[in-house]
Amino acid sequence: MLNIVLFGPPGSGKGTQSIQLRDRYGLIHLSTGDILRSEIAAGTDLGLRAMQLMDKGVLVPDEVVVGMIGSKLDENNKAGGFIFDGFPRTIAQAETLDELLEDNNISITMVLALDVEEEELVKRLLHRGKDSGRSDDKNEMIIRNRIKEYHNKTTPLLNYYQKQNKLSNVKGMGNIEDIFERLCNKVEVIVR
Ligand code: AMP
Repeated sequence: MLNIVLFGPPGSGKGTQSIQLRDRYGLIHLSTGDILRSEIAAGTDLGLRAMQLMDKGVLVPDEVVVGMIGSKLDENNKAGGFIFDGFPRTIAQAETLDELLEDNNISITMVLALDVEEEELVKRLLHRGKDSGRSDDKNEMIIRNRIKEYHNKTTPLLNYYQKQNKLSNVKGMGNIEDIFERLCNKVEVIVR
């Protein structure tokens, strides 16, 4: 079973690349950002509470996203593998993910971390904000806050996965096809 965590700051291309990796390797794509946005669209209490935090560019509480991922893992218990996009984002989330997977006798195979320069991230997100309909992509201050949250709360995971010998860094600059090829090259080493 192939279970990939696609790691990187906001705007590093995780969503785009996850969909391509999903299709290439037959994985279930789990994006906590997408699940939260579907809760917002459905007008649930959880969605409304999450929206207030997402609109400020800060993370929603660990219990909320962990609960969502737990249900998705249960719903997809026959899956051939998963690609986690935007999750985990804190050490507590990573530890719980390891436990949830272990309960199902599976584990993270590899963590692919996309490296993109900060000014490029801001440029990409502002560009996406023009037609994505995402309010958190429209305002530079909120975008910078999301990047700050990433540095403070999410980058410690690099060390967490490095210690497990699962981390691979991938250059996330350049065109989408070239980045996808770099990611696939890392996956092929494992699945070959
Ligand atoms: P994304 O679509 O991954 O850029 O996420 C958009 C927003 O959803 C983030 O800025 C957070 O507010 C929230 N979010 C998504 N995934 C997580 C997560 N794993 N932990 C906490 N908050 C999250």
